[in-house]
Amino acid sequence: MVEDLYDEDYNKWKSGNIMEKSYVCGYCGHEVSSDEGMPLLLDEPGHITLQSGYGVYICTHCHMPTFIYKDVQVPGNRYGASVNNVPGEVKSVYEEARSSFSTGSYTGVVLLCRKLLMHIATDLGARDNLRFIEYVDYLNEHHYAGVRSEQWVDQIRQFGNQANHEIRINTKEEAQRIIKFCEMILKLNYEYPSIASDENNN
Ligand SMILES: [Zn+2]
Repeated sequence: MVEDLYDEDYNKWKSGNIMEKSYVCGYCGHEVSSDEGMPLLLDEPGHITLQSGYGVYICTHCHMPTFIYKDVQVPGNRYGASVNNVPGEVKSVYEEARSSFSTGSYTGVVLLCRKLLMHIATDLGARDNLRFIEYVDYLNEHHYAGVRSEQWVDQIRQFGNQANHEIRINTKEEAQRIIKFCEMILKLNYEYPSIASDENNN
């Protein structure tokens, strides 16, 4: 069980101090600054030097290891915030989209988020078997996307413009845009209402 690794009494990483590095940990989502881990060394004839900022870093929060080299980070940052009070199935698709982002699978992110938005719209009362754009319009017209998101909604609509059979590689920016949009919709419609009802019950 990978959960065992989180237990510091049970497992410890043997680590020395390496160059300090700030990064967002892919396991716990915290932005940490760590100087513990295993440095990458440059072995040149006559001398060995530390590769500044490269190596395996141990998270100061959850103590899990992350490999960092140039613009590679494994596991990567799971983009988007986690959202509370989201129904199980919706949550697992959203979390899968975030995980896909962390591995650089941006087309996968967009496809999962499209599926997610259609699922959310149905959960919020839209009819079955609509087209993606019609689900986005439904969310917008019923103000589930907030009242000042017109421009954002227009950008999200573009993800439905290509025919389903057409393969198009999505960029990191597109993946970020659609995850953030999903995060906002989930917060507005699941997390924030639950905070209000919790306060009413107190
Ligand atoms: Zn961590």
